Amino acid sequence: MAPKEKILRQPMPEQEPKVRARNFEEVPFGYSKETAMKEASRCLQCKKPKCREGCPVEVLIPDFIGKIAEGDFAAAARILKDKNSLPAVCGRVCPQESQCEVKCVVGKKEEPVAIGRLERFAADWERNEGGVTIPPIAAKTGKKVAVIGAGPAGLTVAGDLIKKGHEVTVFEALHKPGGVLIYGIPEFRLPKAIVQAEVDYLSSLGVRFVMNSVIGKIRSVHELMEEDGYDAVFVGSGAGLPNFMKIPGENLNGVYSANEYLTRNNLMKAYLFPGHDTPIARGKRVAVLGGGNVAMDAARTALRLGADASMIVYRRSHDEMPARAEESHHAEEEGVIFHLLTNPVELVGDEDGKVRAMKCVKMRLGEPDASGRRKPEVIPGSEFELEVDTVVVAIGNSPNPLIPATTSEIHTSKWGTIIADEATGKTTMEGVYAGGDVVTGAATVILAMGAGRKAADAIDKYLKGA
Ligand SMILES: Cc1cc2nc3c(=O)[nH]c(=O)nc-3n(C[C@H](O)[C@H](O)[C@H](O)COP(=O)(O)OP(=O)(O)OC[C@H]3O[C@@H](n4cnc5c(N)ncnc54)[C@H](O)[C@@H]3O)c2cc1C
Ligand code: SF4
Repeated sequence: MAPKEKILRQPMPEQEPKVRARNFEEVPFGYSKETAMKEASRCLQCKKPKCREGCPVEVLIPDFIGKIAEGDFAAAARILKDKNSLPAVCGRVCPQESQCEVKCVVGKKEEPVAIGRLERFAADWERNEGGVTIPPIAAKTGKKVAVIGAGPAGLTVAGDLIKKGHEVTVFEALHKPGGVLIYGIPEFRLPKAIVQAEVDYLSSLGVRFVMNSVIGKIRSVHELMEEDGYDAVFVGSGAGLPNFMKIPGENLNGVYSANEYLTRNNLMKAYLFPGHDTPIARGKRVAVLGGGNVAMDAARTALRLGADASMIVYRRSHDEMPARAEESHHAEEEGVIFHLLTNPVELVGDEDGKVRAMKCVKMRLGEPDASGRRKPEVIPGSEFELEVDTVVVAIGNSPNPLIPATTSEIHTSKWGTIIADEATGKTTMEGVYAGGDVVTGAATVILAMGAGRKAADAIDKYLKGA
């Protein structure tokens, strides 16, 4: 008998780097049914699945993969949705390589099962071919909940509470729901239509969305509870306040925060020029400061907006870069130039007040700092100038202070994050819960969703007086 053919991890077909670097269409095409079933057949269906331990929302990973292997994609999607209300999003942007896949036992000898790609496949199949099923909804409880912010944390809370029979209204500052999924992560990584489909699904369950509503300005948390009759409030307002380098020249024209740069491009659709005439610098030499996912998104966006040179400037080395390996790899393939162990010290302007160069120093790595990463030190006498016409600062975000500033009972940490119980999201104000980036500081989609789920359970108990 011929030996059984060994099945290797199935590659994800994707656009050619040179082609995709100049368009905004999604980079990977996704698995076909056949490839998905082949990849799913690599799963050993472990009795004690390690992969599940790595998933912050405890998706029943072997169960959904088993259904894909059998060709029952509808059942796979149902199992996924049971724990994860945004599987098409998570299948695209979750750091699977450091969560579920890193724990997969297949990965000990060969490449782990492609759990994220299979998640994406099942979710896409349901959206495109399967038809979305409406879950059972509990009888109305007569209780009203206000959710502040329509990012992954807020959307998860809204979905969970509406299913438990409560009336849910989501207030969102921007004109579109989705949070970072819509204004931050670019179309080529997460098509907006997918986020919109998830929001439409929540609307179909009865969630009410009120856009262009900055809580803390139009209504305070107090007014929501005391005058508008909300029995509980969830704060999921994220971490949308950009950090800056605090170096000379950051106020020059042509210098953006990554938030502004990506929002103009994604949410205000600058990438659809001339259909949308949103002003944005279409720089020829763009430097992006930082080494995380946000920096990669900005650098790849700059290429697509027509830059001749899009550069990442990061003070540590490749190994310490916080971006997902897939993101930095995609950026490199597309031609983004990496200036590693390099730190800007000053931005230099021309006579019109527009940035024209960046003074930088070279760095070397010393002992680990408090975060455990090796601390960068300046190499004396290493200063040099980099010619640039656009600079995007992507060195992290802090929570927006508006809600705590207008609600004295909600206490914050020294970093401005809202203090909330890790297990329940309960804040220092009665009836008010919080979760996601506003509590943890800038983190991940799945952690925001996990926090949303815990808070929804706690709010449900609170409303039922348990
Ligand atoms: C460019 C970029 C790329 C990223 N890439 C990844 C990735 O690949 N994988 C990953 O897992 N994570 C990624 N992240 C992080 C991830 O997106 C966040 O951790 C996640 O979105 C946090 O969810 P959230 O619901 O807490 O907040 P957000 O997504 O920030 O949503 C908060 C919402 O609240 C609204 N809001 C704020 N204040 C108010 C107010 N006062 N009233 C009403 N509404 C308000 C905001 O407008 C926003 O829509 C990325 C982040 C960025 C910026
Ligand atoms: S650990 Fe890997 S092989 Fe085992 S159930 Fe999870 S995905 Fe399948």
